[in-house]
Amino acid sequence: MELRKHNLTGRDEMPLVALKNVVLFPRIIIPLVVQRPKSVAGLEHALSKDGFIVFVAQKNLKDQAEPSDFFRIGTVGRVVSTNRLTDGSFNINVEGITRVKITDFTQKSPFFKAKVEPITPNYEETVENEALARNIIDQFKKVTESKIYPSVLPNFLFGLQQIKDPEQLVNLIVVNLNLELTDQQDVLETVDLAEAMRKLNIFLTRETEIMEAEKKVVKETKRQLGKMQKEIFLREQLKSIEKELGLEDEKGEYDQLRSKIKKAGMPKEVEQKAMKELGRLEKMPMLSPEVSYLRTYLDWLVELPWSIETHKSIDLKQAEKVLDKEHFGLDKVKERILEYLAVQKQVGKVRGPILCFFGPPGTGKTSIGRSIANSLGRKFVRVSLGGLHDEAELRGHRRTYVGALPGRIIQGIHTAGAKDPVFMLDEIDKIGQDFRGDPASALLEALDPEQNFSFSDNYLEVPFDLSNVIFITTANRLDTIPPALRDRLEIIDFPSYMEEEKLNIAKQFLFPKLIEQHGLKQKTISLGDNVLLDVIRKHTSEAGVRELERKLSTIFRKITRQVVENGQQLKVLVDNEKLHKFLGPARYTHQVAEKKDEVGVATGLAWTPVGGEVLSIEATKMPGRGKLILTGQLGEVMRESISAALSYVRSNAARFKIKDDFYKHDIHIHIPSGAIPKDGPSAGVAMMAAIISLLTKKPVSRTVGMTGEITLRGKILEIGGVKEKILAAHRAGLKTIIIPEENEKDLEDIPPKIKKSLKFILAKTVDDVLKVALK
Ligand code: ADP
Repeated sequence: MELRKHNLTGRDEMPLVALKNVVLFPRIIIPLVVQRPKSVAGLEHALSKDGFIVFVAQKNLKDQAEPSDFFRIGTVGRVVSTNRLTDGSFNINVEGITRVKITDFTQKSPFFKAKVEPITPNYEETVENEALARNIIDQFKKVTESKIYPSVLPNFLFGLQQIKDPEQLVNLIVVNLNLELTDQQDVLETVDLAEAMRKLNIFLTRETEIMEAEKKVVKETKRQLGKMQKEIFLREQLKSIEKELGLEDEKGEYDQLRSKIKKAGMPKEVEQKAMKELGRLEKMPMLSPEVSYLRTYLDWLVELPWSIETHKSIDLKQAEKVLDKEHFGLDKVKERILEYLAVQKQVGKVRGPILCFFGPPGTGKTSIGRSIANSLGRKFVRVSLGGLHDEAELRGHRRTYVGALPGRIIQGIHTAGAKDPVFMLDEIDKIGQDFRGDPASALLEALDPEQNFSFSDNYLEVPFDLSNVIFITTANRLDTIPPALRDRLEIIDFPSYMEEEKLNIAKQFLFPKLIEQHGLKQKTISLGDNVLLDVIRKHTSEAGVRELERKLSTIFRKITRQVVENGQQLKVLVDNEKLHKFLGPARYTHQVAEKKDEVGVATGLAWTPVGGEVLSIEATKMPGRGKLILTGQLGEVMRESISAALSYVRSNAARFKIKDDFYKHDIHIHIPSGAIPKDGPSAGVAMMAAIISLLTKKPVSRTVGMTGEITLRGKILEIGGVKEKILAAHRAGLKTIIIPEENEKDLEDIPPKIKKSLKFILAKTVDDVLKVALK
């Protein structure tokens, strides 16, 4: 029917154009590029006639194709539009008209001509075929929904459903699928349309499967990729964070820590604890804040000298040598220390009482401690307890506190780097008054050899053995030490130095030390004894030699500068003039004896933590109502002893020939220097002398110094610090010293030279004093 319409009869001859890779289907319009000369010639010929051409697919892609290369079934097409390009080729649109069988090739040149016979497809309109058609449409829809067919428009799909002609349906679908050429040709050659549909169905199923598979592959690849990328990304991030925080080779560090723990020589239970904590550490996320706390803790455990000992067996001869070599005098101290060491050697371990070096600053306590360590081959550490307020400072804070650390004891051991150092606890008398917890028991737990083999520090949580440590405490005064602790201390007295001792220490020890420290030569400085004495007397005022050392150091510094500026050959003679230049004007004029004997003024002697002092005690009276006025920062004990003195005088007024008219006068007693607090009972005697002098109008001898506590019955009681007081009296130029008779034993400590230059009166009662003191 169609053919006829286009004037095709049964056996027409028409130009033939071969197609590469494409099949023209009836009722379909497709664009074609016509390039090959034979095709162009065939096209031009057709255009000059009725415009019909038979298009047939090539089995291969040859350019110079022969009839044997062509399929035998093709489609007659009508050229709908042409566009001739400059190179002679054409872009054309062709509409398929009907499929034909080529029965003969009638011409090969200049273009192919063939005889064709139309083929009419057959189709039965059965329910089955109808269903087949619908199925094809459905499948095609599914396929086109995938991304592989993005060019198929929704409108087209809708149109597809409206098509009634099965041939058109089949053809439309075929050209819109990416089918192989042979498959397309197969459909074209299938005359039975139902059969063609079945074939198409298979292609479509195959296509959907491929598509599904493809989808799956894409999805899976995506998933895989996504997962991998995420992981890679996170890993990279983590790495850079760790690098930033320096956690990079954490694992290696933990292994190192493990071997350190093993090498630390810890007791078994401590090692177990450390390993347990390390295990915890390893399981922690690296960025957890607890990690650093735990690391610090483990570092402490590892670094403590659990089993490091440095001491050799005690050699008493050697120890004595070291002590003598490094210190002048201090004979009693050295003796006591050697005894202490002898006991230790005998027992084989640290035993006995805890030593307490007691004395004013600068009297060599620390430096003797260091010598002990030297002579025993032990390490030396020094920890000050001054201002300690909290037991935790001594014993550590629990680890749960932020920034917790071990206490001072364990820190000291850590500094020492050995478990058997000489450990000096300075200023045991200055533990804060407001100490929280019990300082005595906390200290005793650390110091007492009976208890300290398992000293527990709150931070460490494991016991540390302190039983090999030689603890030495120091104190400037004894009355402020908690009694429980004081009981356990063996006090070793470090007395004040006398001028002569200071001179010797300066010459024999401080000088060589300073010369070395300043890199000078022995002969660079010459400094005579009298100049040195001036330094001691006028530029220092102390019981020890610390200030003296500082002053000398100032002189040395100034000389060193001159040497550096003027050459190494310089020699400096330090005379009084130079001394003045180096140290400035004299700073101290010691309290000296009064210029003349006076009524109501007595010279008392006092002990202070920094040495002895001479006090002028002044008494005066004025009309009043028998009041006692006291000034000069006097402490409670001192006030009471004045009251006692006064009561004694009143009750014995008749005996001293004093008019009994106290109630008509106020008595004022003042002790200079007014700004320095004073206390203690030992000024009783001097105050009594001042009062009696005042009331009897008899002057007190200015060269008599006195010390002693008095009772209401006029007895004189023993006092302390005799040596310091006598030294001060000597310095002040006093001639006669009155001390309680019970203190006679203390005179043994006084150097013969001083003893000879002073007259000592041993007083039992007030009368003994007055006999000497009053003129
Ligand atoms: P302390 O601990 O009693 O306050 P130090 O031990 O610090 O006093 O002594 C202060 C300085 O005086 C140190 O340089 C020390 O060597 C020196 N020194 C004190 N006493 C003597 C002494 N007897 N022999 C030699 N040097 C001494």
